[in-house]
Amino acid sequence: MTNPSVTIIGGGVGGLALAHGLRRAGIRVDVYERTYERTDWLQGYRIHISPAGARALHDCLPPPNWQEFRAAASPGGGFGFLTDRATDLLAFDESEINRPGAPESERHYGIGRIRLRAALLSGLDDVLHRGKTFTHYDRTGDRVTAHFTDGTTATADLLIGADGANSAVRAQLLPHAQRIDTGVLTIAGRNPDAASLAPTLTTRANIVLPRARGSLFTAVESGEAIWGYSDAAGTFPTDVTGYDGPALRALVRSRIDGWSPDFHALIENSDPATVNAFHVKSAGPVSPWPTT
Ligand SMILES: Cc1cc2nc3c(=O)[nH]c(=O)nc-3n(C[C@H](O)[C@H](O)[C@H](O)COP(=O)(O)OP(=O)(O)OC[C@H]3O[C@@H](n4cnc5c(N)ncnc54)[C@H](O)[C@@H]3O)c2cc1C
Repeated sequence: MTNPSVTIIGGGVGGLALAHGLRRAGIRVDVYERTYERTDWLQGYRIHISPAGARALHDCLPPPNWQEFRAAASPGGGFGFLTDRATDLLAFDESEINRPGAPESERHYGIGRIRLRAALLSGLDDVLHRGKTFTHYDRTGDRVTAHFTDGTTATADLLIGADGANSAVRAQLLPHAQRIDTGVLTIAGRNPDAASLAPTLTTRANIVLPRARGSLFTAVESGEAIWGYSDAAGTFPTDVTGYDGPALRALVRSRIDGWSPDFHALIENSDPATVNAFHVKSAGPVSPWPTT
């Protein structure tokens, strides 16, 4: 196939990075995204980019986008494993995680999702079609046509599903693929005032391994402290995903009774609008091609 055209469904992390990479390779691409605004997207939780991810972004993105990513991303800081008394079990500082002298494209980074998406969106206005919710595709000869809820269609040589964990493209292509509930439930939130917190919680990411149940992840992003408390879903009230922010904060605090006051301050002073509960899902291995 010479000079193929590509339709990408989903303008998230994968779809936008791929669009840049294809354009740099001279391939015609259009991206169809159901939302309109940069912030109509997942809440601004921090995402960790490993050296493999940084290398992929560096290779896919035009230099201005890479610079925008670099300006928004922090080196990641150190990483610690803490007791529930907020004392170190094991800690790695920045120089042990990012090899000194490693090139920019071979490093670990932390970045908020909204800022990552902003860096990926720049320069794609001419190929990004917003407000397009994919419903299904059909094939005619070697071409594939995507259909959207507004009645419009898009036809190309190749259709790529980058429409996230609940992908409608995957549901049609691989109906036997299943999402798996890991049995873990997480309550997560953001504290807008990281400066008021203990230094351990504001200078690096941590996992708290308590003497009893549960675990707590913490990290810092753009002056805010983020956290996620996880435990077996069966140990939470069955209607917990319907709780509001203040009720979720109170629930987590009741579950970490006896832990260091540092963790209580982190959770109690979180913005209730950012606190939510979700079941952690995964996916099983699946044959990539339909059998019929
Ligand atoms: C709390 C949390 C923390 C995470 N932390 C990390 C981390 O530190 N590092 C890491 O590598 N990964 C992390 N992940 C996983 C990471 O977020 C995903 O792997 C990544 O976002 C997947 O990218 P994607 O492009 O496939 O999908 P998404 O980023 O989810 O993007 C999918 C896009 O498709 C759009 N879309 C969906 N359906 C349709 C439709 N029908 N029509 C049109 N558009 C549609 C959506 O609006 C969205 O913009 C985390 C996930 C969560 C929930």
